[in-house]
Amino acid sequence: MNLASENTALVLKPSGLPVRQFIECTRCLDASRDETSATEWAESHLRKRPGHDTFRTVLMASWRLKPRGEPLALKPAD
Ligand SMILES: [Zn+2]
Repeated sequence: MNLASENTALVLKPSGLPVRQFIECTRCLDASRDETSATEWAESHLRKRPGHDTFRTVLMASWRLKPRGEPLALKPAD
């Protein structure tokens, strides 16, 4: 039993969190949900919604706090 590690709060740093990456439209925030290329998804989106021609790549890391306030990193797919 390691009492030091049990009593030490877990510290998550942004650079250490698992990330999920996706493409989204900057006008309506619709996002790609699959692994097709960014260009294919953007072209398809633009055909469906003329004028929606600006996109961004988003790196997202999700995490939550356990009841005791200790951060818990979620898997990238969450
Ligand atoms: Zn859009």
